[in-house]
Amino acid sequence: MDLSFILNELGEDREHYFNAIAPPIIQTSNFRVNTVDQLKSLFEDEYSGYLYSRGLNPTVDILRKKLAALDGAEDCLVCNSGASAIFLAVLANVKSGDHIVSVERPYTWAQRMFDVILPRFGVSTTYVDGRDIANFEMAIKPNTSLIYLESPNSWDFRLQDLAAVAGLARSKNITTIIDNSYCTPLYQMPIALGIDIAMQTATKYISGHSDTLGGILTGTTKMMKKIFDSEYLNTGCGIQPFNAWLLIRGLRTLPARLARISENTSRVVQFLQQHPVVERIIFPLHHSFPQYELAKKQMKGACGLLSFHIKANSRRQVVKFCESLKHIMMAVSWGGHESLILPQCAGLSDQEFDQENPDHRMLRLYVGLEEPEYLISDIEQALSKSALI
Ligand SMILES: *Cc1c(COP(=O)(O)O)cnc(C)c1O
Repeated sequence: MDLSFILNELGEDREHYFNAIAPPIIQTSNFRVNTVDQLKSLFEDEYSGYLYSRGLNPTVDILRKKLAALDGAEDCLVCNSGASAIFLAVLANVKSGDHIVSVERPYTWAQRMFDVILPRFGVSTTYVDGRDIANFEMAIKPNTSLIYLESPNSWDFRLQDLAAVAGLARSKNITTIIDNSYCTPLYQMPIALGIDIAMQTATKYISGHSDTLGGILTGTTKMMKKIFDSEYLNTGCGIQPFNAWLLIRGLRTLPARLARISENTSRVVQFLQQHPVVERIIFPLHHSFPQYELAKKQMKGACGLLSFHIKANSRRQVVKFCESLKHIMMAVSWGGHESLILPQCAGLSDQEFDQENPDHRMLRLYVGLEEPEYLISDIEQALSKSALI
């Protein structure tokens, strides 16, 4: 399907709402039914129509159709956050006694689910270095029901060979989930590579304006219905109509924003790699990236998020760099219009800082939509202040 058609027309039935270009926000909790038989069939299968907005809602459905098409998937569910989307996708696919194989250091709230919540219900998790397919083969047990992937991850951008993992999982009847937040469907299409469920946070690039949270799941209709019937209705964490409307709005400009951010990112990378205070850059489409070939093979692009190490002897130097930035803000999250910095050493004290540990000198930068020169001069002046300490 044509990308422009998906973003501008698909799912939008303008004749039904006064030919308005922007869709209506159907801000209702419940829907009228005309016959008792209609009510009966909705009670039997709430996934078949509009009954109550904790289930389906027309504004949310416009978004669902677009997001499913972007991923080349049959169907989609949208949640109030990425964390809740992960929660629902995992929970619907495990039962007591099951085992999960996950990539090492997945997104914080996925890891907390595996380490703290699921063990209470008899579900265990083995973490593997996902860069080698053999590690998945070795970790799989007879009771493994799920493989959890994140490629690239959002800190050091490690990849998994998605087609290889999907092939292995299918041969053993194991469900696969990927966190595809870094790439979005514009830069990576996991469903086409054989992954069962593609998850992404909509808070980042889909929203694009740092003004709403959201989480997306795509896959077969059978799988989405399974998740809907399992815990979706119970947790009540489906996205609200207004937030869905903001995400539809964000989608309109997604390709333009990613193109601009890609351009900005390559300018910033060029600047960083020649700077004497910068030791190393970690970015999946940089030739120095250890899995560069795989990145080129399975991703159509990469932008925005990158990490770099600075030559710092103390935590104070890293702090000085971050606090000297005048325009780039210090904040969690990414994917919006604004550039952001996040130091890895935020969780350490000055005494805990270990000069020999490169992680302690690592910074995560998100490059937004500003003018590249504006960002580069900001980074340059902050690096020189940090080097003076
Ligand atoms: C932010 C993020 C999430 C969680 O999304 P929320 O919308 O914040 O709940 C999941 N995975 C990755 C890689 C993220 O960066």
